[in-house]
Amino acid sequence: MKPHYKLYTPREKEILTKTVKLNEEVGELCNDVLSVLQLQRRSKLEKFDKRHIYEEFADVVITVIQLAEAAGVDVERAVGDKIEKIEKRYLKDHKPASGS
Ligand SMILES: [Mg+2]
Repeated sequence: MKPHYKLYTPREKEILTKTVKLNEEVGELCNDVLSVLQLQRRSKLEKFDKRHIYEEFADVVITVIQLAEAAGVDVERAVGDKIEKIEKRYLKDHKPASGS
């Protein structure tokens, strides 16, 4: 039986690798958030450096950009379109009720 990973194209493998990497980076950021909130066990808190969370935010954003590039997604356009959608929804939800 052929290992199933051989069925993936190099591009698909890159997308899969970056997706797994993103999950790892999100996990690292979650760990740091728990540390900032003092919700980790003492041994982890003793080693924690608050400056580290700054880098973890960057790791998540960079990995998202890399994944989008691998998947052929224009991340700038995707974010712009989404912000526009959120703004429209916000304005609709906060429009004064007619007739009042
Ligand atoms: Mg990291």
